[in-house]
Amino acid sequence: MRKINLKALSVEELGSFLSGLGLPKYRTSQLVHWIYDKRARTIEEITEFSKPLRAMLGEKAYISELKVLDRLASSDGTEKFLFELEDGQSIESVLIPDGKRLTLCVSTQVGCAMNCRFCLTGKTGFKRNLKAYEIVDQIITVGRLILPARITNIVLMGMGEPLKNFAEVTAALSMMTGLLHISNRKITVSTSGLVKEMLELPQKAPVVNLAVSLNATTDDVRDFIMPINKKYPIKMLMDACRKFPLPKRRRITFEYVLVDGLNDTRADAKRLASLIKTIPSKVNLIPLNEFEGCEFKKPPEKKILDFQKVLLDAGVTALIRKSKGQDILAACGQLKAKNR
Ligand code: SAH
Ligand code: SF4
Repeated sequence: MRKINLKALSVEELGSFLSGLGLPKYRTSQLVHWIYDKRARTIEEITEFSKPLRAMLGEKAYISELKVLDRLASSDGTEKFLFELEDGQSIESVLIPDGKRLTLCVSTQVGCAMNCRFCLTGKTGFKRNLKAYEIVDQIITVGRLILPARITNIVLMGMGEPLKNFAEVTAALSMMTGLLHISNRKITVSTSGLVKEMLELPQKAPVVNLAVSLNATTDDVRDFIMPINKKYPIKMLMDACRKFPLPKRRRITFEYVLVDGLNDTRADAKRLASLIKTIPSKVNLIPLNEFEGCEFKKPPEKKILDFQKVLLDAGVTALIRKSKGQDILAACGQLKAKNR
């Protein structure tokens, strides 16, 4: 008989599983506490349970964990974790220190099917969706490895398009706020712009922050670099952003990857400012991270600063996101599963 992964069960399912074994109700909250607060790696570690109880449970169930294949530290403090999943696939998470914040960037899929031209994850294709517990396990495992430091923020911005894995991502968001006690204000979902799912998200999951990867200001250019734009063109995307309910006093983040000669002119910057002017928002400018086989280049420094200046002059909050973790290939768009 195949053993049941306790992390794959919702609290409700855990309750029915335990009552099916003849165990009283309070065991469920004990188990939840040991798995998610105390981060027990095995049933054996749950010392609040008697030995016979642990043995009985251990025959029927187990606690999954991610296997750490590699942990790389960048000279700028960023760390990359390479994990192996139960089926041998691999994913990456990136830990980014920034002042008082310690942000973990988690993956939601093995690879990505969205095919954005400037993104290595997209170039390497799609393997499969992650399960909710595989998304949450990245937080649990890294949290354990970096003790006594504590993760303060979560961004769903690693490998994959979160909203293409809607059911598991919404379940993972509920686990983050409900079981790991992470505030919804500290969680950000980043999307390439799946309008339908974007608007469904706040109905199906805790309301979290939203980052939208805009990356172009005309449909022609966006069609070229992000195929999703053919389905949901810029106007539709902006309308959806306008409707999106954010946590109080929060703004949408627009990510804008600057690509030399493609989307980096002053005219682009002006169009960008006017596209987002009625949306409470800020812009993160990300100079393209080049990778082997990348057909684009990042713009020269001066153009990047010029672009930012046009935005600032138009009253837009615009930050240039210094790429972190370049030396360990942990920067945006550079995450890639281990070759198998
Ligand atoms: N799929 C989601 C989240 C993962 S991608 C999304 O697209 O939003 C996270 C961010 O990395 C996106 O903003 C994307 O535009 C950016 N990105 C992808 N490839 C990049 C590259 N080569 N250089 C810089 N940023 C990149
Ligand atoms: Fe997928 Fe995001 Fe990369 Fe596009 S940018 S291919 S959506 S991971």
